[in-house]
Amino acid sequence: MAEKISKRDANIKKMADLLRGGATMLSDTCPDCKIPIFRLTTGEMICPGCNRRVIFTKSTEVEKVAAESNTTSELEMILLEKISQIKDKLAKTDDPEELGKLSRSLSSLYETLEKVRKTKV
Ligand SMILES: [Zn+2]
Repeated sequence: MAEKISKRDANIKKMADLLRGGATMLSDTCPDCKIPIFRLTTGEMICPGCNRRVIFTKSTEVEKVAAESNTTSELEMILLEKISQIKDKLAKTDDPEELGKLSRSLSSLYETLEKVRKTKV
């Protein structure tokens, strides 16, 4: 993969991955990169462009949680994406064995996510 991928292409790919994982594209855009904000199935809102978690203030203005050294790490993003994907699969399967496997992966992902977040503080 020596090919240079432009930032824009990378963002599009990331957005497509998010959508595949069940995330919802919101009509609000990131004030920095002007690309749409996504709501993950975990309920968290992120900007795929700057890898940040975003929250909405009462005035629906986007406030960047990331501003105070709280940037969502690449690892966190990956974990959140995986969680979304597994939740999606979980919703679609009726196979008890599959359900067991998926819920085990889900809880270990959540555990890892928690650890990742704790180490940042
Ligand atoms: Zn952004």
